[in-house]
Amino acid sequence: MSAARGTDYDVLVVGAGIGGIYACHRLTDIGLRVLGVEGADDVGGVWFHNRYPGARVDLEGLWYCYHDADLYREWQWTERYPAQPELQRYLSHAADRWKVRDSFRFQTWLRAASWDEAGHRWLATLHTGETVSTRFLIMTTGQLSIARPPAFPGLEEFQGEWVQTANWPDPGPDLDGRKIGIIGTSASGVQAIPHLARAADQLTVFQRTPHYVAPAHNRPLDPDRIAQHVTRADRLWAEVIAHPGGTDIPLPAGPAADFDEAQRAALLDARWAYGAHAMTTVFSDQSTDQAVNDIVAEYMRDKIRSTVNSAADAERMIPRAYPLGTHRMAVDIGYYETFNRDNVELVSLLENPIERITRTGVQLRDGHVELDLLVLATGFQPFVGALYQSHLSGVGGVPMAEHWQRGPMAYLGLLTTQFPNLFLPTGPGSPSVLANMFAGNEHHVELIVDLVTHMQANGHTKVEASATEEDRWKAELDRLSRPLLRYEFDNYMVHVNRDDGSRVFMPYPGGFNRYVEICEHRFGADHFGFEFS
Ligand SMILES: Cc1cc2nc3c(=O)[nH]c(=O)nc-3n(C[C@H](O)[C@H](O)[C@H](O)COP(=O)(O)OP(=O)(O)OC[C@H]3O[C@@H](n4cnc5c(N)ncnc54)[C@H](O)[C@@H]3O)c2cc1C
Repeated sequence: MSAARGTDYDVLVVGAGIGGIYACHRLTDIGLRVLGVEGADDVGGVWFHNRYPGARVDLEGLWYCYHDADLYREWQWTERYPAQPELQRYLSHAADRWKVRDSFRFQTWLRAASWDEAGHRWLATLHTGETVSTRFLIMTTGQLSIARPPAFPGLEEFQGEWVQTANWPDPGPDLDGRKIGIIGTSASGVQAIPHLARAADQLTVFQRTPHYVAPAHNRPLDPDRIAQHVTRADRLWAEVIAHPGGTDIPLPAGPAADFDEAQRAALLDARWAYGAHAMTTVFSDQSTDQAVNDIVAEYMRDKIRSTVNSAADAERMIPRAYPLGTHRMAVDIGYYETFNRDNVELVSLLENPIERITRTGVQLRDGHVELDLLVLATGFQPFVGALYQSHLSGVGGVPMAEHWQRGPMAYLGLLTTQFPNLFLPTGPGSPSVLANMFAGNEHHVELIVDLVTHMQANGHTKVEASATEEDRWKAELDRLSRPLLRYEFDNYMVHVNRDDGSRVFMPYPGGFNRYVEICEHRFGADHFGFEFS
């Protein structure tokens, strides 16, 4: 069913990524009038915007997909870790399969939305100046969708080209035979660098923070494995919600103390052979015990030493300032080997910081690097970037940025007090970026369908989170996250209040499986923690 055009809707869905496509599909399915808006030209979300060379998912495609039996049967991934063009085609296929494309207005940004207490509706303003009234607002705007604005003095004077990996243009910049520089060596930079090096005349990598990088061991998918997966199609959702990450990544073998040295070495080798995020789950106590974390970290450091020919560069690339797993593990295809090429140079910005961008390149404290193209892989405004840019105001006109100024947190990660009828799929307080984001979005959309159906059946027009339950949920997250090494080290999952040093760990760290159980219990009985009117 295509969206009725007009200004009054039951549901406004913002963002046409994984979550937005699914929300449109399911809420249209239950007979609601749904409008979707997406700032980009097409569906895809992250996989539309991040078209940089090498962009690729780091969870297996067999799990990083909708858990819909029909889609399972008709879509065949070609690789273990599909690349951006294939992910974009998949999301396009899902949008067509569910006929949601007509519900979306593309190249259309939500610029503001305010809660109308008298009418129990949201009044939204689009960048075109049009206004839309809607009973429910679903912000499937992503946790990593808005790039951090570049903050390098002199960038405006640069006469070459500069691009961000997070907003890679189509067509992209010419890479062949050029002098290219890239700033940033986390997940996106690690994926792009081998590709840039192969095309460039000279590539200079400006490294701020070295990251732990695990091998993808990407390969074409074995047809037998696909066939075996498809025969279990109807049971896969049950498997996903039984796993702490919503995937099939091997679970920890147990605490490190249960293994002698030879057993530990064998375990580490097996995890390295599996690759990717398996290195973050070798021992059950590696995320809480620094000494155990060091065992895994040192194993990975040795891999860097044995791969990078220059001993000095290897030492520069070894992470030491934070424990393994406290920043998202980067997953590579030939990253460290790239630094053995003659046309690649590493600049550690800890030793030789950037002073400014000039007309012709990058001025370091010691030396100038001439460039034709500068690539910025400098990260995102996590969790709140898209929400704050959408200027949401709740009860009494309170802006969301003010409501969350001491740290973003929603009840079950889905609804926050003072913002009735506003849903935040994969929001702060849910497993979010700690689990498979397809699974997280699907699960939240099904909870929204449940809530809305319950409201319709009971004549309710307003739902909000109970303040008491939101506070309890926040306390529960605090209790679960404090023992984690991840809590103590600054990373994009932790909101830090600079005045008193207090911290809010934003994603629910208790595991996707446990989270789903909690939701089933709270929704199933009596929609515990939600207030209806
Ligand atoms: C480079 C990269 C790699 C990643 N790899 C993985 C991975 O391997 N595994 C994993 O689980 N997760 C990964 N993620 C996390 C990723 O965010 C999710 O997997 C997934 O794409 C989130 O889908 P989403 O629908 O929630 O949001 P998004 O895909 O972020 O989509 C949000 C959409 O909302 C739109 N939007 C935002 N604000 C507005 C507005 N005001 N008006 C209109 N439109 C708006 C944006 O344009 C965007 O298209 C990765 C993220 C990035 C950036």
